[in-house]
Amino acid sequence: MHWADVIADEIIGKCDKPLISTGISPTGYIHVGSLREAITAEAVRSALESKGSDVRMIYLIDSFDPLRKRYEFLPGSFEEHVKKPICNIPCPCGEHKTYADHFIQPFLEAKDAIGVKCEIIWTHELYEQGKFAEMIDASFAKRDKVIEILTEVSQKEKNENYAPYTPLCPKCGKFVKQPDFDSYKFPYVSYKCEQCGHEGKADIRKADGKLTWRLEWPAKWKMFNVSAEPFGKDHAAAGGSYDTGLRIVKEIFGGNAPHPIPYEFVQLKGKGQMHKSTGSSVTGIDAISMTPPEVLTYTFLRVNPERHIDYDSEMGILDMADEYDRMESLFFDGGATEAEENAVRAYELSKHNRIPKKMPLHIPYRHLVNVVQMSDGIDGVLEILKRNGDFDNATDDDLARLNQRVCCVRFWLNGFAPDAVKFSVSKNMPSIKLSDDETAYLKSLITSLSASEWNAESIHQIVSETGKNSKIGMKGGFQALYKILINRTSGPRLGHFLATMKKDFVIQRLKEASA
Ligand SMILES: [Zn+2]
Ligand SMILES: [Zn+2]
Repeated sequence: MHWADVIADEIIGKCDKPLISTGISPTGYIHVGSLREAITAEAVRSALESKGSDVRMIYLIDSFDPLRKRYEFLPGSFEEHVKKPICNIPCPCGEHKTYADHFIQPFLEAKDAIGVKCEIIWTHELYEQGKFAEMIDASFAKRDKVIEILTEVSQKEKNENYAPYTPLCPKCGKFVKQPDFDSYKFPYVSYKCEQCGHEGKADIRKADGKLTWRLEWPAKWKMFNVSAEPFGKDHAAAGGSYDTGLRIVKEIFGGNAPHPIPYEFVQLKGKGQMHKSTGSSVTGIDAISMTPPEVLTYTFLRVNPERHIDYDSEMGILDMADEYDRMESLFFDGGATEAEENAVRAYELSKHNRIPKKMPLHIPYRHLVNVVQMSDGIDGVLEILKRNGDFDNATDDDLARLNQRVCCVRFWLNGFAPDAVKFSVSKNMPSIKLSDDETAYLKSLITSLSASEWNAESIHQIVSETGKNSKIGMKGGFQALYKILINRTSGPRLGHFLATMKKDFVIQRLKEASA
């Protein structure tokens, strides 16, 4: 059984109206791991939905988190915003409402592109609405117990001054280290800001302060009665925040912990240009831009969340797309082996229960990579595909899918594709020197190709046979053809490649080359 179905079955056994929670702290550039989190949550949601469960999914944006330091990608002027909540910091580019909006925007677009369906909830609004008040009150009332749990579970030295709640100073706009615990009387706690000296009272029913992470997480479980939640494996470590949250939600807040879905990190591999802002060559946004969304989703779902994924932005993308298409065929045509069953289910889940009625038209991804390089826009791609009869009976959905894949291929070719797959067809005969034997070979192709049917198989047959019977041999023949068409000695598979071009164009080039 697929892992998402296993989790769904467990959840159904425990509650009638499951709620899946997932979230992000948009303090900086968003890592591809956050995509894995959203996709993992969505898979469990889809699995529950497919079993008839009345499931809801929320996406919490931790907009009340403080900016912990001035990251390298921020201008020097941002030094003054350190320790302020990111919903109160201006956006670095000037185009967004706040810092939080600036960094969450690309992620929300990516989430929509991969079809993750969830309600967006901003954590700073929950504070403004007083939704945390009950839990903050309990944290103060049972602070000794909180400290005891943290000490026991994380096996660290006891910190008597541990602050479950930090007030927000209205004067300097920064979070204060800790309040005066003894002064607490619902709903107020007094504090003195160590940064600006301001003395004030925080109202726990307002966004006057926030719970610290170890308490805020279980407080959200209690608030929404969360049934399941994926999170990075760092939180899942023994004594980590899931373990402490498990006891805090029960013993302090009187709630239950969600079914944990720890996930492993995603390693992005590839040789794209280094991004100055993130210091890595491939970002999550790159991955989304160059991988068709359903393929990226499938790639994350085909393995258990606890398994590490290497995302290879070079040839790996082509393999992923091929595998996705193969699972799609197996889904529609049947014939999956036992070993493939989970992968076919991963395909289904990657469609979020919205599977097309009939099998979509498949253009092999590697072929598409070649076709895209032989045409300027989508019209050119369509013209080639139609000429070869590859796009007959296409539906609107097929066209939409083709459009999206063409965009991904172009993005990939422009930044990440290895040089070996890149080529461009020379509009005119390249100025190259051919040997007499090469010229003879090309000349002898003119008559046979002119008489041949224009399809990959027949063309392949002719160019290979003619090569074998020539002085330069089959390989030498292929090289001569690549030279006169793309000014290289290797390229896409010749039969398909030539069939993709207009017959007249190829014959004309052969004539010019052998004249
Ligand atoms: Zn901005
Ligand atoms: Zn202050």
